[in-house]
Amino acid sequence: MSSKASVEVWQIILKYAISVPIFLDVEPFKSRATSQYSYGGLYWQVERIRNTLRRICQDWNTFLKSYDNRFIRMDDVLHKRVPRGALPSAIRIDLQSSSGCSCDEYCNGPGNAYWDGMEGVWINALHEYDYPWKVEIIDGSYGEERMSPLRRLALNLKVMISQPRDFARYFEGVISGSKDPLDPQLSMSVSGARNLGTLYLHMNPRDPLSPLIKSDMFPSLQYLGIHVIKTRRPLEQQEIHRFLRYIGSQLRTFYYHHHLGLYPTALDPSLWNLLPNVESIQLPFEWVASDVPKGHPLKRVQITAFDFPYHINDEVIWKSALSHYCPLSPQGKWCFGLNMTWTHLLTMTLDFSMCIWNYFEENDALLEDAHGDTLSQHIVFVIKAFWKQPHRKYHKSAFDG
Ligand SMILES: [Zn+2]
Repeated sequence: MSSKASVEVWQIILKYAISVPIFLDVEPFKSRATSQYSYGGLYWQVERIRNTLRRICQDWNTFLKSYDNRFIRMDDVLHKRVPRGALPSAIRIDLQSSSGCSCDEYCNGPGNAYWDGMEGVWINALHEYDYPWKVEIIDGSYGEERMSPLRRLALNLKVMISQPRDFARYFEGVISGSKDPLDPQLSMSVSGARNLGTLYLHMNPRDPLSPLIKSDMFPSLQYLGIHVIKTRRPLEQQEIHRFLRYIGSQLRTFYYHHHLGLYPTALDPSLWNLLPNVESIQLPFEWVASDVPKGHPLKRVQITAFDFPYHINDEVIWKSALSHYCPLSPQGKWCFGLNMTWTHLLTMTLDFSMCIWNYFEENDALLEDAHGDTLSQHIVFVIKAFWKQPHRKYHKSAFDG
């Protein structure tokens, strides 16, 4: 093997060693739930591995340094833990989450010092640094005037989560480079983010779903989630239908979540005409997802475990809710998925976990968690992890001499 090939092989191994599944995934909703996508623990774990590998030799250090700051929180830039100049090299940028600091300058500062500070850093960086940036994933948002310069990065964006209902406005307008010495050639009209594949909106039910998200502005959008933050008034089925008329036909995943209680109503079956290609769906608890037309590609129905009244310790109520919300018939053999992990659910409520598992077992149907594991697979995983612990002591049995 030539030395050149050897370097290439090492680079592939190093890239594998520092890869971050899920958190830096640009198709996070492709098959699984969203709850894991905001968990950054694995990223920081991999960063520690990367830093260790950088100390092995100068060549590795040089190679791995190019992967600095793949994820940046604006909170860290504000607090000068990360230099502002690193922002163009980040793949994922979190605009909102807090580090839990309580400094007098920003976090406990006067008035709106914290948010004004973060928005100021963001807008200055967008105007100051040359394009293109590497950012593909944006988590969170600021006011419209702070987000509109994002249209310069529109072509690169693949995932936007925790966005407001009117996020589409960021991508309507003209980019003029006449005042920008770094980008003199850039003067063009922008309408949409052509490579955006995944979008998750957080909205208040009093707000209308507008402006509409249309295919011509977002031709690559395949995974769409809507989370209604407050529950006083759910969006009516017709509102959702109106909204889906412009984007529904290209969706492979549609998650719509709000929680009201145990009042099942019939689902308007015309929804399936608006979502002819959807393979994975989550609907409000009240809309009973039965009568999926024959030949429809639906494979997976996601369930929000928190929507079940698991705090009511009554198996009859649970089973009644399950039979409404997860109607299992020989015709509709979909896979049902929980939006949380078995570890989480078993820790929170063992009785409810057993009830929901039992219901699916009795109906000979598949239930998996956010990792894609059935309960049996999860138990096997836990047992294997337990026996692999290096510190475990093995006791001799009475029969061992
Ligand atoms: Zn602070």
